Amino acid sequence: MKITFCYADTRPEPWIEGLRAAFPAADVSVWRPGAPQADYALVWAPPQQFVDEQAGLKAMFNLGAGVDGLLRLKLPADLPLVRIEDAGMAVQMAEYVCQAVVRHFRELPAYESAMARGEWKLRKPRVRRDFAVGVMGLGVLGQRVSRALAHFEFPVNGWSRSPRELDGITTWHGTEGLDGFLRASRVLVNLLPLTPDTRDILNVDTLSRLQPGAYVVNVARGAHLVDEDLLALLASGHLAGATLDVFRTEPLPADHAFRRDPRITLTPHVSARTLREESLAQITGKIAALERGESLTGVVKGTRGY
Ligand code: NDP
Repeated sequence: MKITFCYADTRPEPWIEGLRAAFPAADVSVWRPGAPQADYALVWAPPQQFVDEQAGLKAMFNLGAGVDGLLRLKLPADLPLVRIEDAGMAVQMAEYVCQAVVRHFRELPAYESAMARGEWKLRKPRVRRDFAVGVMGLGVLGQRVSRALAHFEFPVNGWSRSPRELDGITTWHGTEGLDGFLRASRVLVNLLPLTPDTRDILNVDTLSRLQPGAYVVNVARGAHLVDEDLLALLASGHLAGATLDVFRTEPLPADHAFRRDPRITLTPHVSARTLREESLAQITGKIAALERGESLTGVVKGTRGY
């Protein structure tokens, strides 16, 4: 069995060692242009040349949960594309989103800056039932995040493409469910995959249907959010703040307007990192399953784009 690894921005050695430990008889190597055809590939943002040269792969494993970067390439129609499902990302996403929601709910940024100014002033406590959190996307990550938020007793709304029933979460689905979901939510958490249907979905039309004084937490992809619309709704006061981990252009340009607005909290795409050990365990388990002729979960359906 031949396994190739193509991820330009990371140190390949620990990945190669992990693959060799799982499959001692396999030929495991870092991809170079002109390399022989492999059976399986582990990739993140590979060039089109990689895809063209490795057109006979049995499966391509994406080293992340979102495959939007791969679907921009011209891929062989019958190539199984497998994404990472959780592998330690869901708990990271749950802790990141909970801290963002709690920071907004408890007005921690205002307390922190007042203390830095030498003040000591208490604000009226907010009412939890007025702070419903809407989670867009109820997949592997969205479900875990919803459960974590419900644990803190926030009312939680969820929105997905197909109907989903989750204990303690009020759910909506499809375009017909979007309006009710938005109007019932004070905080919007985006955990959708980036597809033609979801690009630009956080825009002036959708965000203005959130409850007044709303907050936006975008942890999915930058192209879900129309930057100017967020800034306009912050300026009008309809939105009270935002936490953004992902951006249309990454790295976020040093002079981007988001960096100058104190109501926006920014992090550099770190809300849920791909963890090597957990991801290797999942991927090697799936390669072994494919070799035994078994079917897999996490295979991307090209027609829906996730
Ligand atoms: P899943 O595929 O498990 O879940 C996707 C969810 O989105 C599903 O509930 C799906 O609905 C819903 N959805 C998809 N399209 C639509 C639509 N048009 N309308 C309504 N709902 C829709 O993905 P994950 O939970 O694993 O990951 C979600 C995203 O998180 C990734 O695609 C990636 O972009 C982002 N991410 C960001 C990271 C970061 O560090 N910032 C790290 C990891 C992921 P249904 O249930 O009906 O299929």
